Amino acid sequence: MLAYLETFGCQANERDSETIQGMLQQLGYKMTQDAAAAHLILLNTCSIREKAEQKVFSRLGTLRKLKDEKPSLIIGLCGCMAQEKDTIPHLRRRCPYVDLVIGTHRLHRLPAMIRNIQGGMGFQCDIEETGEIIEGLPAIRPYPFKALINITYGCNNFCTYCIVPYVRGRERSRGLAAILEESRQRVAQGALEIMYLGQNVNTYGRDLEDSAASFEQLLLEADKIEGLQRIRYMTSHPRDFNDSLIDAVCASQHISRHFHLPVQSGSDQILKRMNRGYDRGRYLELVRKIKAKAPEATLTTDIIVGFPGETEADFLDTLSLVEEVGFDAAFTFMYSPRQGTPAATMPDQIPLREKKDRLHALMDAQAAISLRLHQAMLGQSVSVLAESYESGILTGRAEGSQLVHFPGPDTGVGTFFKVRITEPQTFLLKGEIV
Ligand code: SF4
Repeated sequence: MLAYLETFGCQANERDSETIQGMLQQLGYKMTQDAAAAHLILLNTCSIREKAEQKVFSRLGTLRKLKDEKPSLIIGLCGCMAQEKDTIPHLRRRCPYVDLVIGTHRLHRLPAMIRNIQGGMGFQCDIEETGEIIEGLPAIRPYPFKALINITYGCNNFCTYCIVPYVRGRERSRGLAAILEESRQRVAQGALEIMYLGQNVNTYGRDLEDSAASFEQLLLEADKIEGLQRIRYMTSHPRDFNDSLIDAVCASQHISRHFHLPVQSGSDQILKRMNRGYDRGRYLELVRKIKAKAPEATLTTDIIVGFPGETEADFLDTLSLVEEVGFDAAFTFMYSPRQGTPAATMPDQIPLREKKDRLHALMDAQAAISLRLHQAMLGQSVSVLAESYESGILTGRAEGSQLVHFPGPDTGVGTFFKVRITEPQTFLLKGEIV
């Protein structure tokens, strides 16, 4: 039997997809890249933006034909969209041929639900929000050299634009011992790099009985794992980020000298409306500390423009913050209302034209900064873990998370290379193996 899995959204979903594939394999399925050949099709969905949801509905529309041709085909929806209560009635109306909906808290029930459908029990749905963490589920890792490891699930922050706390539940930390055990196992199986995942890694451990467990402690313990060459993590929250993380990074051998610190806006008024829990001054203070303690580190961020109520002056505050910090890169987004979040019904929504203009102005400003910083790397050698290969070119990330392209053999995927930068560009660095 063949199964086809399509993953939308972030690395948390990518990690869940590894578990889904592991469970499907235990059920006797082999994975296929060809949806038309599959006996089971699962969409692991994202609901961070309404556009992402529309994409899933249009994908489901194209799958209808396959279901008509092969009625025994099982079609299922998992991930954040599946967890949204409003999705189910809408889905049942619009796509009644979907057989299975499983929420983010119930992934471990997937095999039982598939067996129920195979046994003729009809539509299966489980989106109960239990908050439990199920350890030891099987997984198939597409990249043996790179381990994605969850450290927390859910989020407590309720940023007013974000749906995540509603679809992933309250923050739950995995036990320190379980995370370290998984880390050691993955390294023993060939992982060279670990990426620890959480919506707010800085609050890791606060909900655990062992209150000594902190994110810094986890990183420093992982740093001792023999054979592990690089540790990365995603995502930090400026409200909870503190000096001890900078100290841990500086004291470590393997933690990437890269700080991704999403600022979202440079305006205090907007940060407040976003419920981010810090102001511009606090953010800039953190940046100063990072630069003082780890001057070699790279700094990247996420920024939303056109949040409800954002005036031209607020936007200029964001632009000036970007200039002041000098981010190596910024992931920039135009605010789009997410149904079910407080910001979606806030007054003073910004017209699309204005949002687009601000986004372009911000992207131009950031592009100039990125290019300037990248040009300063001309001739430098960086350590790159090659992650993919195409037409004679290997692609990977440097220590500071910059994207690097360089000629090399296809056998180089999963290997660290020393690469000299020969052609810095705005969004990537081109180089050659030293
Ligand atoms: S910290 Fe804010 S933006 Fe990030 S997942 Fe939580 S609510 Fe969403």
